[in-house]
Amino acid sequence: MATPERLNECVKDAIENERQRVKKMRQAHPDVKHRITDYAAAVVACGYKKNNSTFSACSASPVGHQYAEKIRVRLESLASIGEKRDECNNIVGACAEPHAADKVIKKFPGCDMDELQFSDAYRPRTARRVKNCRNCKETFFEVL
Ligand SMILES: [Zn+2]
Repeated sequence: MATPERLNECVKDAIENERQRVKKMRQAHPDVKHRITDYAAAVVACGYKKNNSTFSACSASPVGHQYAEKIRVRLESLASIGEKRDECNNIVGACAEPHAADKVIKKFPGCDMDELQFSDAYRPRTARRVKNCRNCKETFFEVL
């Protein structure tokens, strides 16, 4: 089981990696105006209850991304992947949570949706916690 400490360590590393990525990108392009959207909006870690593995992911466009079947079915029960619905401000499939869970399930195809574990989600730009959105709460209703 991925302990909360291990998940927390994983997400903290991911925050740092995202900050480094933005820093390097800005150094490489000093004339380009800095934007909040240089950073991924959110980052989260996800683990598998049956072992100690954890994976982190940033929020990102789901366009062109092939989600694992188990996640895809859940997302598509909300709305088409890549679209918004009235109940949530986030694009279906764009959050860090499904991207991180997708890594877990692709690595461990036997992992069921109720065997996922999430860290708290954070905004890498500020390192502040972000709440799970309605799309994510409904997609991962067993664990969020
Ligand atoms: Zn979300």
